[in-house]
Amino acid sequence: MAEFAWWEMHCDRNHVWWRSLSAAAEPSANDLVCPVDGEQAVTAGSRALADRAELRLIPAAWDDEGVVGFEDEYFVQITDHASGQFLRSAKTFDFDAACKRLSWFRRMTWPDAEREWGKVGLGETDDSAVAGSSVSFGETCE
Ligand SMILES: [Zn+2]
Repeated sequence: MAEFAWWEMHCDRNHVWWRSLSAAAEPSANDLVCPVDGEQAVTAGSRALADRAELRLIPAAWDDEGVVGFEDEYFVQITDHASGQFLRSAKTFDFDAACKRLSWFRRMTWPDAEREWGKVGLGETDDSAVAGSSVSFGETCE
């Protein structure tokens, strides 16, 4: 169950506006006012979020009393918002490469993303692999 849902509102003059609200919430009086002309909404309908894997960039930077390392390195993680289950890359990537990796999973459901994970060279998720990933730092990843 998603934590929030979209609400789509229309006024009499055919303006359309959207609000994202927590899943259990109803639009407030303010949400029901047309942002263009201040008219009241004549229709309001909720739209549940589609089942999509969450895509995360996790900063890999470390800080040892002000000495910072791996500042521009990121782990890539995909998460099933329903169960909290996730897969996190063993390697780190620079920002652009991490975004490129994540973009592979856009529009995918969790089952599809989980199945595709192994095909894009993101490695294992277990903690020992993550800790050892710094050894392979600087490797070129395709
Ligand atoms: Zn309007």
